Amino acid sequence: MPVRAWVGLGANLGDARATLRAALRSLEAVPHSRLAGVSSLWRSAPVDARGPDFLNAVAALDTTLAPLELLRRLQAIELEHGRERPYRNAPRTLDLDLLLYGGLCQDDPVLTLPHPRAHERAFVLAPLSELAPALCWPGRQETPPQLLQMVRDQPIVRLNGDWR
Ligand code: ADP
Ligand code: MG
Repeated sequence: MPVRAWVGLGANLGDARATLRAALRSLEAVPHSRLAGVSSLWRSAPVDARGPDFLNAVAALDTTLAPLELLRRLQAIELEHGRERPYRNAPRTLDLDLLLYGGLCQDDPVLTLPHPRAHERAFVLAPLSELAPALCWPGRQETPPQLLQMVRDQPIVRLNGDWR
């Protein structure tokens, strides 16, 4: 049975919108997986990172890949789109985070699930609230819209529903 995984997409260098669009094409091509939904495009100010504003989105992927295999695929897509890691929290052409993998909770630093900061980032919670407002967050009581309320100080703007 496939598991629903949630992927966070972010880009803040170069033509970020084109990068995110290309990343979606790559997500559609991930084996043993089906792209089940894509949020609007959102613009957010960098939180811990540097550089210009980010464009963000969230995608749902139904997959039979194991969690670590899916993470490797996401990292390969990042590299395809020119991601370099010159220093921690550097500006990035493309960041793909595995936000949630079904109801799985695990503490491994190589792959922490849910993603350890996703529940406190408006640029994750706003697009996720569009796609899955009633989602059960593993290990938490709140839904994405309720979590979003708690970080409403983080500026984020919805840009475009049909950007794919
Ligand atoms: P960030 O996205 O937090 O700004 P990176 O994309 O550079 O930083 O990720 C750094 C490391 O985080 C990766 O090497 C990866 O193994 C690890 N990591 C742990 N949990 C996750 C997760 N849920 N999604 C993506 N990366 C993760
Ligand atoms: Mg990342």
